[in-house]
Amino acid sequence: MLSVFGSGIGRGIAIGKAYLLRQTEIETPRYTINKADVTSEVNRLREAVVDTKLKYKNLLKSLPKSAPKESAAFIDAHTLMLSDPLLIDESIKIIKSERVNAEHALMQQSGNLIKVFERMQDTYLRAKKTDVEHVTNRLLRNLMGIVSHNLDEISGEDLKGKIVISNDLTPAETMFVKEHKIVAFVTDLGSQISHTAIVARSLKMPAVVGLHGATKYINDNDLLVVDGLRGTILINPTKAVLKEYKQRLSKIRQRERHLATLTRRISKTADGKRIQLMANVETSKELSAVKRSNAAGIGLYRTEYLFMNREQAPTEAEQFRAYKKMVSGVDKPVIIRTLDIGGDKRLDFNYPNKKSSESPLGLRAVRLCLNHIEVFKPQLRAILRASAYGKVSIMIPMISNVDEVGQVLSLIKQTKAELKSEGIRFDSRVKVGGMIEVPAAAIMAEVLAKKLDFLSIGTNDLIQYTLAIDRVDDAVNYLYDPIHPAVLQLIRLVIKAGNNAQIPVSLCGEMAGNVKYTRLLLALGLRNFSMDANYILDVKEQILNVDTDKLKRLAKRVVNADTPVHARAELEQLNKETLM
Ligand code: PEP
Ligand code: MG
Repeated sequence: MLSVFGSGIGRGIAIGKAYLLRQTEIETPRYTINKADVTSEVNRLREAVVDTKLKYKNLLKSLPKSAPKESAAFIDAHTLMLSDPLLIDESIKIIKSERVNAEHALMQQSGNLIKVFERMQDTYLRAKKTDVEHVTNRLLRNLMGIVSHNLDEISGEDLKGKIVISNDLTPAETMFVKEHKIVAFVTDLGSQISHTAIVARSLKMPAVVGLHGATKYINDNDLLVVDGLRGTILINPTKAVLKEYKQRLSKIRQRERHLATLTRRISKTADGKRIQLMANVETSKELSAVKRSNAAGIGLYRTEYLFMNREQAPTEAEQFRAYKKMVSGVDKPVIIRTLDIGGDKRLDFNYPNKKSSESPLGLRAVRLCLNHIEVFKPQLRAILRASAYGKVSIMIPMISNVDEVGQVLSLIKQTKAELKSEGIRFDSRVKVGGMIEVPAAAIMAEVLAKKLDFLSIGTNDLIQYTLAIDRVDDAVNYLYDPIHPAVLQLIRLVIKAGNNAQIPVSLCGEMAGNVKYTRLLLALGLRNFSMDANYILDVKEQILNVDTDKLKRLAKRVVNADTPVHARAELEQLNKETLM
């Protein structure tokens, strides 16, 4: 038995066989062939085409019912491309005229086509380049007998009950994980605060990330135990260890049953302060967990997930349907965050300034939306239309200056006027809030609070930008510190600004769902939390058992600590005390 360690995600344990995803680039061989071998080389390519078509057909059959409609269209388009003479017949011509192997001929012709698409003026046609790349890649792997895959290309049956081992997984790929009934995943890269980790938590899927190459020790079909709480992976455990883990699993279930008894309890502290606990969601699939947790509503709906794993942005109509489904489904207040694409939240299709948006400091989130109204406007219309079906608020991500707020507010005003003139229903009193994720916004919170109806502290990004560490880079992950004195001072500043302006302040970063910080945040004056629904009852348990007056003195010591080490020691002390 071997154990390897990384950063754990979730608090579950999974036991299953390893499935290795090889995501390495393919090196295409080039060699010349004899005249006598030309026919068999052409046949090799033709057979690979037939085989690839069959794989697409199987993939189509294994698509889950919940997969977006576009997934099937996407597979159909790729199947069709496999019959396109421009790709296949022209590659065959190259095999014959240049007497080269099929892989090289295919790559050469695919490169020619990609260049043609890249020169197209029309953005839709330009994006077709990605289709050519996808199809070529699949065909090439078939030709070369490589069983490497992308997660979305593997049939669900092969993955059922497995633990996926990979160099990395994107948030978009992680969305597929549950569909395929994978029970856990393990990656070399990544951190606990990446969106991949956030999606895993929302799927209640244990994972260990940031293994720094330790996945090299895992082979296909090894039996693994993945412990999300401790961040450990046991490779081929002994019977005794397996037994111990099975016992731990039953303890976890026991604890879940205990927490379920708190569902109907009112969320208030021992000294009677009401604390609002809301849920963060990415897709409507999480609605059942939201209901189970009895959340006060949705405090953060990350709409960008609607844009993932597809070839084109959703239309206004499609967005409207999705938002309406969420609003009607939860039947409680829903805060819809406008598009926060960029950073590690990557999309498959091309969009303006895509490259810049992929940098955490680039033209992402509200910056991208304000620079590309054609992207922003359909979303604002869709959200406003959904507001006719429940209590909806709009939330702006990644504000870094007050003017951005002014611009969004006037755009919302204009959109409302348009909808009104078209006779389309919406809630005219829809509230607009802003996320405080950039230190500049935290420092300017007093000014922002005068323009907005509420503030929400996005600590995931606020910590990233305050401490200058990329939240997905595991090399600097050790510096990611929610209780760094600088971070705590900014949080305190924002809460104070909200109180002064008499508007609600919530906190919706991962910190909100971590019981280690519940007392501290209460002591800082936080009264509204928004977190993954699976953590609401744990946090509620903390709240029910604490007296906020008694908290204050001890919490001051954490906030006033001059180094992160002192802050950690004070926090431990704070969490140890009986404060009833
Ligand atoms: C945050 O930054 O804290 C946040 C909630 O937003 P996201 O994690 O989607 O960036
Ligand atoms: Mg953020």
